This record gives sequence, structure tokens and C-alpha cells, in this order.
Amino acid sequence: MNFRQRLAQFMYGRNGYDAFNQFLLIASIACIMLGMLFARVPVLAMLFNLAEWAALIYCLFRTFSRDLYKRQKENAWYYAKRQAVGRWFRSLKDRWQQRKDYKFFRCPSCHALLRVPRGKGKLVLTCRKCGNRFERKT
Ligand SMILES: [Zn+2]
Repeated sequence: MNFRQRLAQFMYGRNGYDAFNQFLLIASIACIMLGMLFARVPVLAMLFNLAEWAALIYCLFRTFSRDLYKRQKENAWYYAKRQAVGRWFRSLKDRWQQRKDYKFFRCPSCHALLRVPRGKGKLVLTCRKCGNRFERKT
């Protein structure tokens, strides 16, 4: 049996390298760089060093773990968080591009985002999500 076959046999039934592990590895490398950047601040350098090792050890643990159910749940959780962050950035970009034509408000009761055309004076806005009414200058 060659090395590749032995490795394949060893990894059989284990989680392996998934998207969350990729993130952990990148986070670990980012912590190494931040640790070097803040080398003159011992407390920060130590914290980044700790975070670097924690991410690395967790990544290795996840790679060799046989509890596939739990690891897949973690990976799904990570994907959901990553999508939420992506949505947030896209919404920020949309708001920036539309800033000249629209004003954006948060509903005071449910915090939903409302888009209103600019320059219409004082308006009573009705939240589409919860029906709450409130007045804003546009
Ligand atoms: Zn609302």
C-alpha cells in the first residue's frame, strides 16, 4: 500500500477539509500576521498568538473528527453566517448606490429597513413588515 492509499484509509469516515476549516486556517494565518503587527503590544500579541493556536487546533480536530453529524452542522452554521455577512455587505452597497434618490430608515418597532424617495418632505411611513406607522423627514 502506498502513502496515498494509506492516507485515504486513515481519512475514511473522518470529516476532512471543509469550508469551515478553510475559514479557520485563514483566520489562523490572519492571527499570525496580526500578532506580528502588534508585536510591540505584548497583551495583543499574546491574544493573537492564542487565537492562532486555538483556530489551528480546532481546524485539525475538525479535519480528523469522526463525528460527521456535528462537523456538518458546524459547517452549515458557518455557511449561514457567511451568507448573512454577504447579504449585509450587498445591502450596504445597494444603499450607497441609491443614496441620491432614496433615504433609508429603520422601523422603530421591528428594525426592518424602509426605502423612501428623497425630497418628499415630512411623510408618515408605514412599515411593510409590522404595519407600524411613524413620521420622518425625507
Ligand atoms: Zn416594522
